[in-house]
Amino acid sequence: MENKIKLEIVTPYGLILSEEVDEVSTSGSEGDFGVLPGHVPFFTTLKIGMLSYKKGNTTNYVFVNWGYAEVGPDRVMILADSAEKSEDIDVERAKAAMKRAEERLKKAEEFDFARASASLERALARIQVAEKRTG
Ligand code: ATP
Repeated sequence: MENKIKLEIVTPYGLILSEEVDEVSTSGSEGDFGVLPGHVPFFTTLKIGMLSYKKGNTTNYVFVNWGYAEVGPDRVMILADSAEKSEDIDVERAKAAMKRAEERLKKAEEFDFARASASLERALARIQVAEKRTG
């Protein structure tokens, strides 16, 4: 479709999203970036965090756990370890994961540290994205 971007988010758990959108914004490892139709092609890794996309006047939010973004003039393809639309986030589960990670961090052996802090980062990002839920 002209002047639209086909946004696809794929994880090992399945296709999370496939939509024609007007604009995509997210956090690459080199910094935040936004994509409008006609963007020059590029490829980047993504951080744990939030992706947002606009369809008309509505902005939608998605949690993205690591991954890659492949950007073309009319396409944004996200390959992530896991991802959830904000309305699909189970906030209680994220809070439980946050507590578990905090407990582990208190007594973390060094080899546990990276794993527990990544888990904490995922939980906090999920809670933040869930708070952006529309409606
Ligand atoms: P947990 O410790 O709660 O399992 P996690 O960060 O280890 O969280 P992931 O490995 O990122 O979980 O994801 C595993 C699967 O569970 C994926 O399909 C992911 O979308 C889903 N998932 C994880 N946490 C949530 C959540 N809070 N709400 C909805 N889906 C979730």
